[in-house]
Amino acid sequence: MFLKGITVIIIVDTGGTVVIRSPIMKKSLVLGIICLFIGSAFISCASRFDELIDQHQDNFYPGQGYEVNVNELGKAHIVAQSFKPSMTPLTKVDLAILTDIYTTQPVVVSIRSDLEGNDITSITVPHEQIPQDNISWCSFNFPNVTVVPGTTYYIIVRSNATGYGYCMGYYGSNLYPRGNTWLCYDGNWTAYYSEDCAFRTYSIDNQSPNPPTIDGPHYGKTNTTYAFSLGPITDPNGDQLYCLWGWGNGNTSGWLGPFNSGAIINTSHSWSEPGTYAIKAKLKDSYGAESNWSVPHVITIFALKKAFIFGRYTNLSAEDGYITIKAINLRLVIFKPFQFLHYIADEKITFSKDNIKALIMSQFLIGLFEVAI
Ligand code: CA
Repeated sequence: MFLKGITVIIIVDTGGTVVIRSPIMKKSLVLGIICLFIGSAFISCASRFDELIDQHQDNFYPGQGYEVNVNELGKAHIVAQSFKPSMTPLTKVDLAILTDIYTTQPVVVSIRSDLEGNDITSITVPHEQIPQDNISWCSFNFPNVTVVPGTTYYIIVRSNATGYGYCMGYYGSNLYPRGNTWLCYDGNWTAYYSEDCAFRTYSIDNQSPNPPTIDGPHYGKTNTTYAFSLGPITDPNGDQLYCLWGWGNGNTSGWLGPFNSGAIINTSHSWSEPGTYAIKAKLKDSYGAESNWSVPHVITIFALKKAFIFGRYTNLSAEDGYITIKAINLRLVIFKPFQFLHYIADEKITFSKDNIKALIMSQFLIGLFEVAI
């Protein structure tokens, strides 16, 4: 955990009478004076943990808002504002809100990735901490939560308060293009696409980890475990890191870690089917910021068969325990299933360095091999 920055906000008091708005009540008359919060002062210093405003819609009507409560019929009014973060993590939100001295129940502010899903973070705030004279800005400092930039999330405001409850400031000209207001009455959500709650979301100054580089063999055989490494893995902020491997066949490792920035990560993997696999990996820091994928590391996995080979060859090369030759005139006898093959004129044959029982001369060989066919 870390200390949150202090936000200094200037409130313009227009002296308007507050009118409650709900999904089942006709919109009340706008008093005509709009609160504009231009140039609100935010003090910054050198620490990366100073909170920065990410998404915001700063305007609200001074005398009118959305109600949050449970009415005399036992039906709940809930308010939501959708938004798309550009930063992660999400550390807190500010909302323009009002209550009165007769309200006793707290207000709950939470974040969801689905309107009707579970809260992914939340805070319950006593009514005494909510402004009681005018709709005013108030901070809701819930536990930090990792969010995916560019994805829609919802700020949910709800309370079991009966009677007046709470009142949320909003504005009606679609000033925030990356989301809108949603109002819930008795469990039914309705979108108000041209309206936005007054809200500000916060994050911290964080940079994504650097893409990792993969080291490991380029050739192997089926059902054999091979070692691969990443590293050293680095994060510009020195944050702890998690890594994810993609094994080129649709399988992934899941997020592994945490590891310290600067560490070398070792792991191993085997493949049951022969083929060519493009292995890739990426990193995620402890605040949820992800690197790009690494450059793919290609490995060819052979299914080896015992074979008797004899004849003339050229251009012998070796890598990762495998030898590749070009045929001049080679004959192969494969035992299971029985095959008799003839390779000529630069056709390539690859076999394992292991389990060779053969005579190998500069351009001629004869004997038993494990060959990749
Ligand atoms: Ca970082």
